Amino acid sequence: MSVLKIAIQKSGRLSENSKKLLEECGIKFSNGISVLKTKAHNFPVEVLFLRDDDIPQYVEQQVADIGILGENMVYEKAKEVDVVEQLGFATCRLSLAIPKEETYTGPGYFMNKKIATSYPKLLTDFLNKNKIKAEIEEISGSVEIAPGIGLADAICDIVSSGSTLLTNGLHEVETILKSQAVIISCKNLDADKKKILDNLLFRIRAVKNAKENKYILLNAPESAIKRICDILPGMKSPTVLPLAEKGWCSLHSVVREDEFWESITQLKAAGAEGILVIPIEKMIL
Ligand code: ATP
Ligand code: MG
Repeated sequence: MSVLKIAIQKSGRLSENSKKLLEECGIKFSNGISVLKTKAHNFPVEVLFLRDDDIPQYVEQQVADIGILGENMVYEKAKEVDVVEQLGFATCRLSLAIPKEETYTGPGYFMNKKIATSYPKLLTDFLNKNKIKAEIEEISGSVEIAPGIGLADAICDIVSSGSTLLTNGLHEVETILKSQAVIISCKNLDADKKKILDNLLFRIRAVKNAKENKYILLNAPESAIKRICDILPGMKSPTVLPLAEKGWCSLHSVVREDEFWESITQLKAAGAEGILVIPIEKMIL
């Protein structure tokens, strides 16, 4: 019986969400997470806990069949793997930042400057594309302090809110790559493992769709139903049920999380009352 080996980050910014995603897909693990490897007892997968830097290599070499990690690391390592799904968490960007008192004049600013980074490949690609000659100082962590201690003139690092940059007296001037967590797969998965991966992706998409949508219930007079249906098309079309009170209906539908507040305002204006909005656990389209 085939087992799909999944590599996830052992501890760090990706580990909690990676584990949560597998749990939300109904996959249960018998061991704690202190081990390096654990088998699910209700789905044919085994999880390997690794440093995120090592995941692309292990997937390329088929030590693991698939892995969960940031796109930044996937493209920095540039191994022979396929990106099969974007997961929507760990959103961040790889950016260039310079001391805040410096005026940015465009990519030419970096000519003959020294840039500290943990992403030498992606930075080199950016510099080559812009025909800039600069010195790259490769360091593995705490990149943002490099200009302050005189190690470099600028940095190229992961940014999310930008508060770490501000604290270190830097400002962001270029974005090299936008990143989120993804699933990578080794090339040439055998047919049995491919089947397990497809099943896993089916579950992941159901979880993702559920998070992006809400279930909505409301009451409205019959005369308002047509207008409300136009605002809330739902998955196929809304469910309309009669209420005990004559002339009134209850309407059930699905609304996208990002359109939710706008829809509520329109629904109220159309005559909806007693609006309930409920999270969806799984959604299969
Ligand atoms: P490891 O010990 O596994 O090598 P690490 O210290 O290199 O871990 P983390 O800081 O845990 O890595 O970050 C892992 C990934 O999370 C990054 O490669 C990036 O994709 C994403 N990430 C990093 N910083 C942020 C952030 N501030 N906000 C959102 N996502 C981030
Ligand atoms: Mg790392």
